[in-house]
Amino acid sequence: MRTIEHWICGKSTSGESTRRGPVWNPAAGEQQAEVVLATSRDVDDTVRTARAAFEEWSQASLSKRASVLFAFRELVNAHLDELAEIVSDEHGKVVSDARGEVQRGLEVVEFCCGIPSLLKGDYSDQVSTGIDVYSFREPLGVCAGITPFNFPVMVPMWMHPVAIACGNTFVLKPSERDPSASTLVAELWREAGLPDGVFNVVHGDKEAVDALLDHPDVAAVSFVGSTPIAKYIHERATSTGKRVQALGGAKNHAIVLPDADLDFASDHLVAAAFGSAGERCMAISAAVTVGAAGDAVVDAVSEKAAKVKVGPGRDPASEMGPVVTPQARDRIVGLIGSGEEQGARITVDGRGFVVPGHEQGFFVGPTVVDRVTAEMDVYREEIFGPVLSVVRTETVDEAIRLVNANPYGNGTAIFTSSGEAARRFQRGVNVGMIGVNVPIPVPMAYYSFGGWKDSLFGDKHIHGPEGVSFYTRGKVVTSRWPHVEHPVDASYHFPTHD
Ligand code: NAD
Repeated sequence: MRTIEHWICGKSTSGESTRRGPVWNPAAGEQQAEVVLATSRDVDDTVRTARAAFEEWSQASLSKRASVLFAFRELVNAHLDELAEIVSDEHGKVVSDARGEVQRGLEVVEFCCGIPSLLKGDYSDQVSTGIDVYSFREPLGVCAGITPFNFPVMVPMWMHPVAIACGNTFVLKPSERDPSASTLVAELWREAGLPDGVFNVVHGDKEAVDALLDHPDVAAVSFVGSTPIAKYIHERATSTGKRVQALGGAKNHAIVLPDADLDFASDHLVAAAFGSAGERCMAISAAVTVGAAGDAVVDAVSEKAAKVKVGPGRDPASEMGPVVTPQARDRIVGLIGSGEEQGARITVDGRGFVVPGHEQGFFVGPTVVDRVTAEMDVYREEIFGPVLSVVRTETVDEAIRLVNANPYGNGTAIFTSSGEAARRFQRGVNVGMIGVNVPIPVPMAYYSFGGWKDSLFGDKHIHGPEGVSFYTRGKVVTSRWPHVEHPVDASYHFPTHD
């Protein structure tokens, strides 16, 4: 059985650990590899390596850093298909979707190629006679990234290119469920000319994560994953004085008004609910219909959901693959059942879905649950599977109130032909990322990505300008070069002269 190892200081290693975790092939329903699970001593060794590499990398010129970023960009682009296939094989998503994920990660790398512009400081000449003030930003030190299974390339790339471009060194703890892509990414960094020790990958579970959170030489932690863990990471790492951004789970609503193009809206709802088997933090999991849109939306999405082509991720005909683990499948099936028991109506039922030739695969078919209410578990829980709940409301204000009453605030969308309704919605919802006739409004790399409420703990959104701010800290210099002809007397009071 293949063993997936850590990547520390430019080399693969198993460290001292004897613990291993299973890596599944979700389409086949069998274990395909094992991943090494780090001990806290392995983590300590990795952080020490990264701390030592920081001394040199933090002093590398902006030109040098930009040239490594450009080379890395070319290499990721050249290996895009290979990365997508690795992702598909361990995560289960279809290869075309995995290519899209790598592409979105690449856009963050491209943003970081402009690091010399992004780190330009401010300069104020002659703020007082003979005195200038200027500012610049410096890297923090060793930054850690702890990432979820659902985007094993893109989510880490929200972090490490930005941190490294800013002059930090990085320790990535990827999801133990689909760890292989991180090894190829590490090799590409090395080939791009990044010095050993600047980018490291340590695999593991809670033991490795806790060791990173408590390590005195880790300056900042970026986390993406479920809400309970995000909250835990934020509390534990801030208590040891670290800078933390912890992105959590989601329950994304799409409001559909009766004046929307309902054919367009239902096409997009189905793609946004069932793409990647619903295992996206920006997936639409609740369609909120207003008035007469209800019946029409349920009929259209049910018809379209039943036609989604479900199969292994490597089959080019597949539009949706399996879910990631048998535990995920069982949990999703259980939540669909709870909806039925609590009075919802299942119009398309993906339970017991079998793909011929892949009978053991972790498949759940697209599922549509109508007449869901805010009290039901199928609405309250983040299902993270191919399940679209339909909640019916009477007015746009009632729909907005429903979105705002939900504890999550990651993404939301509205389908309408009314500019007035769209504007009321964008100003009225307490959500970080908003789509108008766009169901999955993921910001481009040169904006920052982040939700509100239980979808993000910490102050800074991820990547884009807020990412650069997160991975650096500012210095402001007040400078005077005394001139013999204009002596300046020291004073005991706060200066008031000009
Ligand atoms: P998860 O929270 O189970 O795991 C995320 C990371 O935390 C993994 O690296 C895992 O090893 C680690 N971890 C898990 N349990 C831990 C514990 N008890 N102590 C310390 N570390 C622990 O999340 P997941 O199942 O891998 O990913 C799916 C979740 O991620 C969903 O909730 C989804 O909404 C969320 N997500 C959010 C965003 C966003 O941008 N807000 C993006 C992608 C995924």
